[in-house]
Amino acid sequence: MHGVGVGRGIAAGKALRMPEKLTPPTDAPHGGDGDEEANRASEALAAVAQELHERGEVVGGEAQDVLQAASLMAQDPALADDVSSRIRAGVNAEYAVQEGFGQFKQMLVALGGYMAERATDLDDVAQRVIARLRGVPAPGVPESDEPFVLVARDLAPADTATLDLDKVLALVTQDGGPTSHTAILARAKSITAIVGVPGLLDAVSDGQGIIADARTGEVTLDPSDREIAAALAERSRRSEAASAPITPGALADGTQVQLLANLGRPEEAAEAVKLGAEGVGLFRTEFLFLDAKEPPSVEWQTEQYTAMLSAFEGKKVVVRVLDAGADKPLSFLNDADEENPALGLRGIRALEKNENILRDQLKALAQADAATNADLWVMAPMIANAEETEYFVGIGREYGLKTVGAMAEVPSIAVLADQVMRHADFVSIGTNDLTQYTFAADRMLGTVAQFQDPWHPAVLRLIERLGDAGAALDTPVGVCGEAAADPALAVVLVGLGVTSLSMSPAALADVRAELLTVTMEEARERAAKALQATSARAAREAVL
Ligand code: PEP
Ligand code: MG
Repeated sequence: MHGVGVGRGIAAGKALRMPEKLTPPTDAPHGGDGDEEANRASEALAAVAQELHERGEVVGGEAQDVLQAASLMAQDPALADDVSSRIRAGVNAEYAVQEGFGQFKQMLVALGGYMAERATDLDDVAQRVIARLRGVPAPGVPESDEPFVLVARDLAPADTATLDLDKVLALVTQDGGPTSHTAILARAKSITAIVGVPGLLDAVSDGQGIIADARTGEVTLDPSDREIAAALAERSRRSEAASAPITPGALADGTQVQLLANLGRPEEAAEAVKLGAEGVGLFRTEFLFLDAKEPPSVEWQTEQYTAMLSAFEGKKVVVRVLDAGADKPLSFLNDADEENPALGLRGIRALEKNENILRDQLKALAQADAATNADLWVMAPMIANAEETEYFVGIGREYGLKTVGAMAEVPSIAVLADQVMRHADFVSIGTNDLTQYTFAADRMLGTVAQFQDPWHPAVLRLIERLGDAGAALDTPVGVCGEAAADPALAVVLVGLGVTSLSMSPAALADVRAELLTVTMEEARERAAKALQATSARAAREAVL
């Protein structure tokens, strides 16, 4: 079976399936003895409370506090009374639990503060109690004493965030594309993952042997001893690479390739520096504003940018102005009525319509630049042609910004690379959107995930055009999409003329190690092979 691999990890072990979500209970009457039904409910509540308590004891630390709190919720006498009076009024136990917990949750939300934050935990407890009443496994990440490969339809962000990394060897999901939140979180936490594997859930059962090779996206069921040994050997080679000394990005022949970090907040800077980021290749400023109802003030923005730039003294920091729209709408910039927001007023188009917001941001950036010693580069998302480039660079210059560039995410920019580079000081390729727009396939949709693969020669040929134009016009061309975090693809990108790679910091070690294994000549040879392939898979296979 095949899916889209995230990173280059490989894992071999036993599969454990994530239980499917429970169907919501109906309000059907229990039709029996109210006492018996109420007893069933209180037994289930007590059993779940006990189970959560015991799990807390095993895991310890902060997670224990969370589980303890959840256990106390399941034991709450007022809640138990509420559930049993609902049952005595006639409804079945599952429905009474759902309603009772629902009401309790509303009360907590109304209290606000810490209690409100805990309210969503009630949903999890209620689901566990309902599962117990039905005699089915509780939803959520299964527990096991042995490490396992987690097989799921998809994961909720909360599931991914709380995965026990000592136990979960790899994640394999049927849904989700390479830029889905599962993939992004897996990458951020360096979890081996393969997403978008059609037919997965029909094929895999609990306890079955499985190998997940994220380098190729291949999932092997019931592997032979030889295959398992090879996978384990590769896994240990990989962990050696992760602990290799941190050096500036370079190929085996000494050609430098700057390795940079994709960040969303100044607080993430310290970790990136620790992992050897030579600067920032993409600061997604819209991440600072996702909850804002009003455009943030120049002062507040200046503070944020100053904090980020201060963490990278003497180093390059590429800041992207607000990329609002589609999967990241900002209420003060986007019109909710668009039928196809990914094809609407997003990125630079939305900023051009709201130039005051763009100007405020550039002003804040110029002030932060003046107050710090980083090498500030500023770029705009979703630039489609030379006119937009000229517009954005012109306005950036008005604020005294020295290095102003364009992101290459819309295929037209690759076709017009020479025209665009006459204005832009640099180009940074956003392969996530470039792939989505090349194939007209929504990057958030699992059903078209097979298109969201930057290994496809259609995407690589666009990157080649940008690389060639960059070399001819002496314009730096970087990549800041997820493609840069795939070590084998990173080599191909360098072979296509890309001179810097920016990625989630957790991916830096693997990419650094892989670059050191090839010369520029070899990288070019690999790129040439990939360009000639007729599918993403063939391109990957031609290179690996
Ligand atoms: C991209 O599109 O590749 C990119 C880097 O931008 P984002 O993922 O934030 O859209
Ligand atoms: Mg983008």
